[in-house]
Amino acid sequence: MGRTRRKRRHRKVPPFQKQHTQSTAASDALKLWLLDQNWVPTLDLEPHIFPETGRGLMALKDIAVKDVLLELPKRLLITTLTVSESYISRIFLSDKIYDAQCVLATFLLYEKHLKEASNWKPYLDSLPVSYSNPEFCSKTEKTILPEFVTSQLSLLSRKCKVSYLSLMETLTILRSREFVCPHCTLSFDKIITFSDFTWGYYTVNTRAVYLDGTENIRINIKGDNLALAPFLDLFNHTCRTVAVAALIKKKESEFYQIKSLTSYKRGSQVFINYGAHNNLELYMEYGFVIPQNPLDEIKFDLSDIKKCINISRTVYNFLRVHNLDDNMSFSSQGLNYSAKNVLFICTTSVQKNQWMQKMFRDNLDSEDLSRVNSLGLKILQMKKSQLKQDLQKMKRCRYKSGSFLSAVQLLEEFIQVLESCLKIICE
Ligand SMILES: [Zn+2]
Repeated sequence: MGRTRRKRRHRKVPPFQKQHTQSTAASDALKLWLLDQNWVPTLDLEPHIFPETGRGLMALKDIAVKDVLLELPKRLLITTLTVSESYISRIFLSDKIYDAQCVLATFLLYEKHLKEASNWKPYLDSLPVSYSNPEFCSKTEKTILPEFVTSQLSLLSRKCKVSYLSLMETLTILRSREFVCPHCTLSFDKIITFSDFTWGYYTVNTRAVYLDGTENIRINIKGDNLALAPFLDLFNHTCRTVAVAALIKKKESEFYQIKSLTSYKRGSQVFINYGAHNNLELYMEYGFVIPQNPLDEIKFDLSDIKKCINISRTVYNFLRVHNLDDNMSFSSQGLNYSAKNVLFICTTSVQKNQWMQKMFRDNLDSEDLSRVNSLGLKILQMKKSQLKQDLQKMKRCRYKSGSFLSAVQLLEEFIQVLESCLKIICE
């Protein structure tokens, strides 16, 4: 019963996402454009609207394990090399070092600004106008998001803002050197607004792939190198599939290739795997949540334990000195290893000099486990009631954006995880 209820909940496609997902026109146009650029599809895949995920790719024939899902010539990817060979490369030729996310975002915004004159127009048209990452929640909604989301959001927001300010600083200098758009003669600091930049930044965040092998580029890149791959965007994520991506060489040309390690029946949706992400990571990075994500865990720390039991100075110091409390969590599998050890130390009456031996050599006996579970249960109930309060508050919010609805779904998923964990603990 739980399963059907969750499925139905997942079908609630956020309102703005619907604008993109009710039609496959832009994706169809993108496919035609790629064919026009001499792209050779390896498989028959068609953009399609699926009830569970919105826009995705449907297999028109059965797909076997190791079939190549997609093979894109490198020239059809937007890479830092693409930018480095473009008119706007001058922006990035200063002494500064940029991250690839900023470089690609700037390129997207410039090309978007060119409208019909852009070579990438069909790709740009296929991109969503907004995303459902927490950044795109309204101001009011952001004040209602739970703390474990807002603390991560403020880090991401800051990164985006710092990137923008650094870019603006360069663009202002370039304006004084009369570096302007060759089409409309506007200076670049007037072309790129902060809200545009945020869109570009998140376009790269939600869609870019890691790509090595970009030698010969004149831009200094900090951190990982990234690329945008038209059409690849159309694959949705599931953690139940495996796909491998690589840059391969064929007859002197390079291709970005994705192979499926899962088979698919004709008419079903073909997925790729964006990596091993729990729902909080998926929401922060990609703006969505998947039902029953096996990697989900609800973390807790010593301050949570302290609300349920007194911890002596000796215990507290011991835990901190050995960093035993770093990674305590509840998952649908129960209490994790760290949590069990920490809760053991908090509840045991054996002497301190025996703790390590008991945890790492002798294993906990049934009486130890019973105390561990009973304290674990208290913390779990407290966490659950916090999440439920957060959820109620969020549900009372009148205007819910797509990003906010994803946060609601995230909390519902977390409460489910705690409920599964509770069953395991009580067994
Ligand atoms: Zn212009």
